[in-house]
Amino acid sequence: MSTHHDPPGGTLCQVPGCGRTRYGRQDHCQTHHRQMLETGTVRPIRPYRPRSSGTVKFAGLRLSPEVVREIERICARKRISQGAAIALALEAWHAARQKAKPGPLADE
Ligand SMILES: [Zn+2]
Repeated sequence: MSTHHDPPGGTLCQVPGCGRTRYGRQDHCQTHHRQMLETGTVRPIRPYRPRSSGTVKFAGLRLSPEVVREIERICARKRISQGAAIALALEAWHAARQKAKPGPLADE
């Protein structure tokens, strides 16, 4: 038996980019509903505790939880921002690629 109690706007949280399902008949998911009650405003939920599978949003990117943990370790170890840690990781990746290649012409 199908019910037609879906609120206008669908069954997802009204906070842009949230993507969580609504909490009961609220306009927001449970986390944003609680945020609204406690602070009177809503803000994006940060992936402090990423799910064990799939990807999570991190610094505007969609990354695997393993990569997020790695980046957070770099942040903590070097006491730098997420953006700086990601830049470091990319530079290291680039350096590793350069080292692996015999030369620029060996690409193809
Ligand atoms: Zn939400």
